[in-house]
Formats: sequence, C-alpha cells, structure tokens
Amino acid sequence: MTAPRFKRILLKLSGEVLMGEGGLAIDPAVTARVAGEIADARAKGYEVCVVVGGGNIFRGLAAAARGFERATADYMGMLATVMNALAVQNALEQIGVETRVQSAIPMASVCEPFIRRRAERHLEKGRVVIFAAGVGSPYFTTDSGAALRAAEMKCDALFKGTSVDGVYDADPKKVATARRFETVSYDKVLAEDLKIMDASAIALCRDNSIPIVVFNIRQPGNLAAVLRGEGISTIVQ
Ligand code: UDP
Repeated sequence: MTAPRFKRILLKLSGEVLMGEGGLAIDPAVTARVAGEIADARAKGYEVCVVVGGGNIFRGLAAAARGFERATADYMGMLATVMNALAVQNALEQIGVETRVQSAIPMASVCEPFIRRRAERHLEKGRVVIFAAGVGSPYFTTDSGAALRAAEMKCDALFKGTSVDGVYDADPKKVATARRFETVSYDKVLAEDLKIMDASAIALCRDNSIPIVVFNIRQPGNLAAVLRGEGISTIVQ
C-alpha cells in the first residue's frame, strides 16, 4: 500500500456550498452532509483545516456595486464567514468531531482568535480547525485566506470544494465540448484567467508550492474519493 499523498489538508468551502434547494442561506441538511465528508477525512487520519466563505450571505463587492462603502461591505462579508464557520462547527460537533473556530477578526465571546501555534496544537490533538473571517482585511477574499492559512499551517494541499468537477478549458455549463484538465499549471490558470480562485490566492499557492485540488463537494463521497486519488478533480500544480 502506498502512503497517502497528503497528510494535512486545507478544505476551502464557498459559502454557497452550504445552501440548499429551498433558498436557505445555511441549509442544516446540506451542512450536515458536508460535515460528514469532513468527519470521514478526519477519521481516515487526515489533519483537516477548513476555510469557509460567506458568499451565501453577503459579498462585499456585490454590495459595493449596490452603493455600500466597500470596506464596510467587506467587513460585513467577513462577519458572514464567521456565521458559516459556526454552522460547520455545529454540524461537525453534532457528529462527534472536535473542532475549534479561529477568526482573523478577534471575537472573544464567539470563537478563538487566529493564533497559528494554537491552531497547530488543535490539529495535533485531532481537532478540525475552522478558520473564519478570511485574512481579516477588506479587499481580500476567503480564497486568499485559504491560501494564506494553507501556507501558514504547512498544509500539503488546498482542496477547493466547488459545484463543478474541476477546471475546464471553457465553461462546461455553456460549452458542450468543454474539456476538464487532469492537471494544469498555476501559470496557465493565471495567464488564461481560468477563474478557479482569485489571482492572489493562486499566486500564493504557486510561490509556496501548494497544489490546489479543485473538485465537486456537492457529490457525496467525493472528498474521500479525491483524497484516495480516485475521484474526479483537477490538480493545479
Ligand atoms: N472578505 C474580506 N476579506 C477577506 C475575506 C472575505 O473582505 O479576507 C469579505 C468579502 O466582502 C467577500 C466576503 O467577505 O465577498 C465573503 O467571502 P467570499 O466572497 O470569499 O466567500 P465565498 O465566495 O467563498 O463564499
């Protein structure tokens, strides 16, 4: 048996991954299913960091286009990510997985502040650490937060859970002949603006040699399959 390729992973979940059909921003059943995938990875011995987005609740850029002041809107977006982090924490703890939420914006009554060494200790103890509030500054996204935390926590890979199967050479929802890449270079993703994550997140992963595994988190069992090297995904490396 070959040793698993990754020991410590960072899973980036977009906020919309928590949404259900009924229009709820945080659907308990959907969140429970995602938590089940994380619990499964944890049970298989992976050390798991999670970064959650907030786009299901509030996006700074979109709000700014409607007249909000950008920085204020971005802070609101970061608060939305804390709500999602608590929802994921709640779902994980309901199935017996120990977790800690650490926020880049200190919020002492709600969760821990981000302290890298403490997060390291939590992982050593087998806890899932959920990082909230992105990088803690406006004008960034949780993709950048995910790349930053993956680098700081020395993760072996960043798993980007989306609602598509990977990276395509055209939009698979619009172009019937669109082809999925098995692997693709960071530079190609940046040069062709393939829109997996924002450019600063891709560049940070490239500069720190962190592969990005893009896969469909909506498909049950897919995280485990991709971790085994069997599921459908695209690896940006
Ligand atoms: N945000 C921010 N700084 C960060 C991370 C997030 O200002 O470091 C704000 C930004 O307004 C963003 C919102 O939080 O639109 C929600 O995050 P994101 O759009 O990355 O969520 P996702 O698309 O992953 O659900």
